[in-house]
Amino acid sequence: MDEATRQFNQEIERVSGAAFQSARGGDDNWNKLLESYDIEPLDKDIKEALLNSEMKIARGAFPVELRKVYEKIIEKHSSTNSAELKNILSNFDMEGKIKAYYQKIKPFGGISDIFKNASVTITKYSQGMQKAKHHTMKCKSCGSPRLEEMQYDNCLFCGSKLFEPA
Ligand SMILES: [Zn+2]
Repeated sequence: MDEATRQFNQEIERVSGAAFQSARGGDDNWNKLLESYDIEPLDKDIKEALLNSEMKIARGAFPVELRKVYEKIIEKHSSTNSAELKNILSNFDMEGKIKAYYQKIKPFGGISDIFKNASVTITKYSQGMQKAKHHTMKCKSCGSPRLEEMQYDNCLFCGSKLFEPA
């Protein structure tokens, strides 16, 4: 591995660790890191909506913010002369990386969660699943439902552009 690649990997690892170490939904240290990359933290309203959504997290910064940091790091290194790093940058698996991070900050789903989800599903079903179910969209990458009352292009939770019918 050459020096440019080593530095890139180190930077990616450092920010991934910082995201994971952050308090649930971000904290001062994480915000400082965002600031150092010229990234605005999510609005308080959006954080609030996400914390109350079905995309539960037990710890860590929101995946969408980590994605923005990865994007900045990739951009920063994009003028590299290293062929090795160029190759890594063009094959960077953003969706995979963000998904893996989400798996790490998800709460452990025990028995009670399974029952809770089951009863929610049954309630929804009995309320009539024909009701607007067909135009509900969810994120193809993380499964977050699209909040129809809000207008946005990318998934609020993980930042992916990909939506599909739920
Ligand atoms: Zn998503």
